[in-house]
Amino acid sequence: MQSPQPDPTAGDESQAVSRRIQRLSLHLTPNHRHLQNDTAQQLGLVECAKAAKLTVDTSSLSNYMRGKHREIQDRVLDYFNKRPELQTPVEILKDDHRELCMKQLVGLVREAGFRPFRYIVDEPAKYFAILEAVGSVDMSLGIKMGVQYSLWGGSVLNLGTKKHKDMYFDGIDNLEYPGCFAMTELHHGSNVQGLQTVATFDPITDEFIIDTPNDGAIKWWIGNAAVHGKFATVFAKLMLPTRDTKGITDMGVHAFIVPIRDLKTHQTLPGIEIQDCGHKVGLNGVDNGALRFRSVRIPRDNLLNRFGDVSRDGKYTSSLPSINKRFAATLGELVGGRVGLAYSSVSVLKVAATIAIRYSLLRQQFGPSKQPEVSILDYQSQQHKLMPMLASTYAFHFATSHLVEKYSEMKKSHDEQLVGDIHSLSAGLKAYVTAYTAKSLSICREACGGHGYASVNRFGSLRNDHDIFQTFEGDNTVLLQQVLNKSHSLRPRLEFSILFYDLEFFRG
Ligand SMILES: Cc1cc2nc3c(=O)[nH]c(=O)nc-3n(C[C@H](O)[C@H](O)[C@H](O)COP(=O)(O)OP(=O)(O)OC[C@H]3O[C@@H](n4cnc5c(N)ncnc54)[C@H](O)[C@@H]3O)c2cc1C
Repeated sequence: MQSPQPDPTAGDESQAVSRRIQRLSLHLTPNHRHLQNDTAQQLGLVECAKAAKLTVDTSSLSNYMRGKHREIQDRVLDYFNKRPELQTPVEILKDDHRELCMKQLVGLVREAGFRPFRYIVDEPAKYFAILEAVGSVDMSLGIKMGVQYSLWGGSVLNLGTKKHKDMYFDGIDNLEYPGCFAMTELHHGSNVQGLQTVATFDPITDEFIIDTPNDGAIKWWIGNAAVHGKFATVFAKLMLPTRDTKGITDMGVHAFIVPIRDLKTHQTLPGIEIQDCGHKVGLNGVDNGALRFRSVRIPRDNLLNRFGDVSRDGKYTSSLPSINKRFAATLGELVGGRVGLAYSSVSVLKVAATIAIRYSLLRQQFGPSKQPEVSILDYQSQQHKLMPMLASTYAFHFATSHLVEKYSEMKKSHDEQLVGDIHSLSAGLKAYVTAYTAKSLSICREACGGHGYASVNRFGSLRNDHDIFQTFEGDNTVLLQQVLNKSHSLRPRLEFSILFYDLEFFRG
């Protein structure tokens, strides 16, 4: 048997370790360092900023990352760069912010000629690319656009039929019909099936009567309601008069188009009461409000009737056999908002990580005497904060791009299995990514020290605006429970679930 050969690299390795320890000790005991120049050289103490030679072809990388939608994103950013009066100042009052946000959206659509609504069904990836760009201008604008096109517009397109598209598409597209998505109530948020607002069919007048039966059923947090909305898609229990002893049957939650303000005068319509939800932690460019309905009559045609309809004589028809199936189909069609939110959360992470990493490259603290100080990105602790975050940002970018691709496929094929998969995939990714981004925003702020706390450096607004991403479009805890349910249903005996990327793993 041969005796082991000495490891020729062992010496180098221990030297490298001691070099590293010496470097770190500079950080821990800054006042006791008296290093000679040659020692500093030996330690390789050159500031990151000067040492970094950028050999990455950033244009190719950007093309690779943003693909064919780079051009439209650049045009959006160009438009806002050329319109300083449309840029959100660091200090702005709530009411001014709301008006500015509406002006930004109107400018984007009517002046710059972008028509995001036209892509929402046929080219969702393009829609999400525009959303990413406007969200980086001001996250309130991204959410305002999402309320108008994904939520209000999306509900009309996805839950309605041709008559609704014919009647509302242009007004939604050109912003003549700003609208709301009124699902949440004061007493029911996550539990959508518990909603209490009712829409009772009146066979005599051929109308639905929308009612808020108690204070807990007031629609709450509704984007676009406090100031700008003219219409709302209202989610309510459809009540049908019957000839049996009960006299009325609850057909489950359906969606109805309800005009809330006069198209010309902008006055609140009779029977509608609107309150302002007030100043929020963030997203103050969005006017969230509360809606109460007192026997508001709407034509029968205003029922968004893709999954269930009521005939002139009050008969209910649906291709889906049960309330639960109809409810699942309805929510399944609304998943686009959640996909957009996961995608936008990654955009926030990109912005925050970029600011923190660039700053860390240039910021210098401590170092050998008479030498340039060390770039803080050279400290291992700083790298631990930011480098895994950078890697995760890339990973999330590709994961959410994959989600958007699958979602686009689903919009074309309406394949039932794909609908279920997208529901779980978007729920899992939205919950995971938004929670990660929320934590990272604090880490980025800290990583930039005191300068990270100056409002102009954006971490405060990013953190406040993004925080609610963990709650709306599905509370993260509730979404993760749904993912777990799905994974258990696919693999009943799987004891521990992981966040999954490919549901085939569970089917296999
Ligand atoms: C700024 C903003 C804008 C919004 N915009 C709109 C809009 O335009 N339209 C609209 O309809 N809604 C909107 N919402 C409402 C939003 O969708 C709801 O806030 C969200 O669905 C959560 O509901 P909730 O607030 O009632 O929370 P709840 O459902 O009451 O949740 C509160 C807590 O309870 C926990 N919890 C709930 N259920 C369970 C469970 N089964 N197991 C374990 N824990 C549970 C949650 O994890 C959470 O921590 C908006 C909200 C905000 C703040």
